[in-house]
Amino acid sequence: MAEMTKKQFQAESKRLLEMMVNSIYSQKEIFLRELISNASDAIDKIYYKALTDDRLTFNQEDYYIKITPDKDNLTLTISDTGIGMTEEELEDNLGIIAKSGSLAFKNENEIKDGQDIIGQFGVGFYSAFMVADVVTVVTKALGSDKAYKWESQGTDGYTIEVGEKETVGTDIILKLKENTEDDSYDEFLEEYRLKTIVKKYSDFIRYPIKMDVIES
Ligand code: ADP
Ligand code: MG
Repeated sequence: MAEMTKKQFQAESKRLLEMMVNSIYSQKEIFLRELISNASDAIDKIYYKALTDDRLTFNQEDYYIKITPDKDNLTLTISDTGIGMTEEELEDNLGIIAKSGSLAFKNENEIKDGQDIIGQFGVGFYSAFMVADVVTVVTKALGSDKAYKWESQGTDGYTIEVGEKETVGTDIILKLKENTEDDSYDEFLEEYRLKTIVKKYSDFIRYPIKMDVIES
């Protein structure tokens, strides 16, 4: 089998990523808001497709977001039954920052207002690196029979390979960072804590947000 090559993030993405990895922002909990918002957007995309494509039907109960804390493996998984990503989309969407506009805004305003900018503007997918040292995305796009796995440990790049997933949608698997003297990360495996964050930031999401607690 050919050796997997590690690809580098685009320069601007790398800068945002560095900010996230170093957790310059104190409210780390907003990573969940960002990932839930992406999951919801992905379901919206399937929904709008179904409206215009007679071959697709949208059964409300098939579309949901699921949060799975796993204390044994120290992982938190955010899954959706949304539109998924092709290999090309993985490359385009996760290797390059989508919203360079907000990054430029952040760069201009950061010193004056470092704390609030991130809270106000979506920082997006890379905020996962505030709490995780490995982020794995397993996804299967609508209409595709192949699943792909994107994985990154942060600024040193990412890999994409064929993955395993039966159903259309995306799983974002966060390998949480180890607790330090100043920061705790295992709190993001506590059901109550997660529910509080979901209620605080994602109350308006139109799809059900389920929780699947893995008991050890
Ligand atoms: P934004 O949501 O503002 O576009 P993000 O950094 O949050 O920026 O996400 C980047 C892109 O990655 C999204 O626009 C989308 O194309 C893709 N993406 C992220 N998460 C998912 C997901 N769960 N399902 C499908 N696509 C996703
Ligand atoms: Mg987003």
